Amino acid sequence: MTNGTATVTIRDVTPRDGLQAGTPVSSAARAELAIALADAGLAHVEAASFVSAKAVPTMAGADEVFGLLPECDTVWWALVPNARGAEAALAAGVRNITVTVSASTAYSEKNVRRSTAEALAGLAEIAAVSQPAGADLDVVVSCAFGSPFDDVISPSPVIDVVDAALRAMPGARITLADTTGTATPRRIAAVFAELAGEAHTDLGLHLHDTRGTALANALWAFEHGVHRFDTATGGLGGSPFAPGAGGNLATEDLVLVLEDLGIPTGIDLDAILRIADSLSSLVGHSVPSRTAAAGPLPFFDSQRPLA
Ligand code: ZN
Repeated sequence: MTNGTATVTIRDVTPRDGLQAGTPVSSAARAELAIALADAGLAHVEAASFVSAKAVPTMAGADEVFGLLPECDTVWWALVPNARGAEAALAAGVRNITVTVSASTAYSEKNVRRSTAEALAGLAEIAAVSQPAGADLDVVVSCAFGSPFDDVISPSPVIDVVDAALRAMPGARITLADTTGTATPRRIAAVFAELAGEAHTDLGLHLHDTRGTALANALWAFEHGVHRFDTATGGLGGSPFAPGAGGNLATEDLVLVLEDLGIPTGIDLDAILRIADSLSSLVGHSVPSRTAAAGPLPFFDSQRPLA
């Protein structure tokens, strides 16, 4: 797996997923966080969500956040829930848009008050607004490995959602999300088996660590060809609409293990740990990441790539 040429792309979603379920933080502080993440080497940052402030008060002022972000090498992403959100995002200068559609209709109804079928129709509306403007789109399929509600998720319908999303949004990339931390390597393997033979070359994973499986899932997926991951610094995060959801896979946990394996991430772990520390003050409680608590690895003589 570690052949020396493997690369990994990490998108830090702290300013969006990391902060959405907590106490509201000012737009200026969220922009400052996004910039600090870029300075730490994150090539992709999800900086805001253009949702209704009534539905998700912590995400109010997304246009203000984007107004404070500089043009730089880092790709800034924003989540939009519908065509109106896409119009607002484009007006604020957003060029990289994440949209979600849920493999669980029960979750979809709680999260966006629409069935999965209605959400898929909404993707076409978002595409009609965004693609002529040249926006890059990423469809995040939530609850791809299990639902927090009673509905049963199995691999084949997940792939049906992926296929329908790509019909609605041709050319979009696909990210499978373990929204509530129910994925295991076996469940991911089951979904990948269904995907085999289909042309989903740029597949990403968005993992939550509710049951302590996020890092195991990421490493398993990496070994099986996934090189794109969503993470949050400090392991913050979780959907306000998913009962019991734990935080995101911590950026520092993934960076620490990949770098130790000799996989370059381009991310400065010490800088991420400083950001994790400052996040504790920002959100008013300690962050869940283990690496943030324990610090970087001590030197171990005989570190060499396993290739
Ligand atoms: Zn998430």
